[in-house]
Amino acid sequence: MSPNTLMTIGQQFSRRSWAEPWKIKMVEPLNMITRDDREKALAEAGYNTFLLRSDDVYIDLLTDSGTGAMSDRQWAGMMLGDEAYAGSRNFYHLEAAIQKFYGYKYIVPTHQGRGAEHLISQAVIKKGQYVPGNMYFTTTRLHQELAGGIFVDVIIDEAHDPQILHKFKGNIDLDKLESLIKREGAENIAYVSVAGTVNMAGGQPVSMANIKAVRKLADHHGIKVFLDATRLVENAFFIQEREDGYENRSIAEILLEFCSYSHGAWMSAKKDSLVNIGGWLAVDDRELFEELRNLVVVYEGLHTYGGLAGRDLEAMAIGIAESVQDEHIQSRIGQVRYLGELLTTWGIPIVHPVGGHAIFLDAKAFYPHLEQIKFPAQTLAAELYLDSGIRSMERGIASAGRNAKTGDHNYPKLELTRLTIPRRVYTQAHMDVVAESVRAAYETRDQTRGLKMVYEPKYLRFFQARFERL
Ligand SMILES: *Cc1c(COP(=O)(O)O)cnc(C)c1O
Repeated sequence: MSPNTLMTIGQQFSRRSWAEPWKIKMVEPLNMITRDDREKALAEAGYNTFLLRSDDVYIDLLTDSGTGAMSDRQWAGMMLGDEAYAGSRNFYHLEAAIQKFYGYKYIVPTHQGRGAEHLISQAVIKKGQYVPGNMYFTTTRLHQELAGGIFVDVIIDEAHDPQILHKFKGNIDLDKLESLIKREGAENIAYVSVAGTVNMAGGQPVSMANIKAVRKLADHHGIKVFLDATRLVENAFFIQEREDGYENRSIAEILLEFCSYSHGAWMSAKKDSLVNIGGWLAVDDRELFEELRNLVVVYEGLHTYGGLAGRDLEAMAIGIAESVQDEHIQSRIGQVRYLGELLTTWGIPIVHPVGGHAIFLDAKAFYPHLEQIKFPAQTLAAELYLDSGIRSMERGIASAGRNAKTGDHNYPKLELTRLTIPRRVYTQAHMDVVAESVRAAYETRDQTRGLKMVYEPKYLRFFQARFERL
């Protein structure tokens, strides 16, 4: 064998893949019902994947919210639940974890993210005030509006284009923010609401430079900055990967620095923090904390449990520490990318660049023959379920709801079907099956006619709306 041949073989074997930094200790069987039964189940669910029974679902990519697998350590922590009504030791563990990894001083636990959104909105927003944010999130905006706030989208324009390759598509447009402040006056801005990553834009990150600049501008006008910290660990991964000066910083260090540019944050721990239920609110201001701690008693539970059991608080405290480990977040986002790369290779239109928690299929490009009022993204979610029992969700016109003033539908630029990857749950083989099902739906896209909405609930309609086939 010549040295050259040896070198070629050597190069072949020098390929290195990433792998999950865990092994599986317990399994839960999956079941796939027949196509006929899926037809029936979907019609009964009004073509809304939120209304399917999970027993009728094969691979469940509805959401990454509370659907992750806990570690052996988290389960062990559950056994150490201190179910005292007041002052549970697990609360102090959680408090310490948030102080250590997010850096805030005062902590209020809540049963999940929207519980925290409710409290902060009620405490901080005065009726008629504006709340600028980097694209809306469904529950966040609703709580801001219920408190009398007026949401204003100040994300950069690139976020609304599914094909533009921008490193930090979640960034706030400082000109948009500044002109809003100048037009309405700083006293009419409740706070700046920053989410990283931005779910509705496709899980797109915010850069450290951007949050720093937002804080500087806000300080100049005496306005506070609050973070939706739900996926900030994933956001930190993108900063480490893409932003100059952060390539050698740990995820934990980046997270802590990012939070340092805000006055507080709310959290759905069902996402980054690897638990099935839980959330919190944290601030640095003592007076605001006193008010929030008082409000939590009204809506959630005493300020040391916030609607959760002691064991839930313990699992959350352990989950936070696990979530900021570099290997964890690399494999979490690596799996999302694997699916995205397969689909891209096959020419299927998805949002680029691939974000942190999900693949977003571009339903407008998928079904160019369907007008938006025929609910293309809802239709695609229904088609995927029929093909293979995979459950996805709509993030388009149904999710966008109606204009509070005119009552007309909001017509978002992005009409997306989200394949959300639960944390530490599915394998690469499951990702292959999902990609193949999307390809099957893509090959038969011309035959698709769309849906019409036949029942529409008043709040967050996408959860419970019903549709019929056109
Ligand atoms: C899920 C989520 C929320 C709401 O949290 P829940 O725990 O579902 O109530 C808020 N903001 C973002 C960005 C989310 O993804």
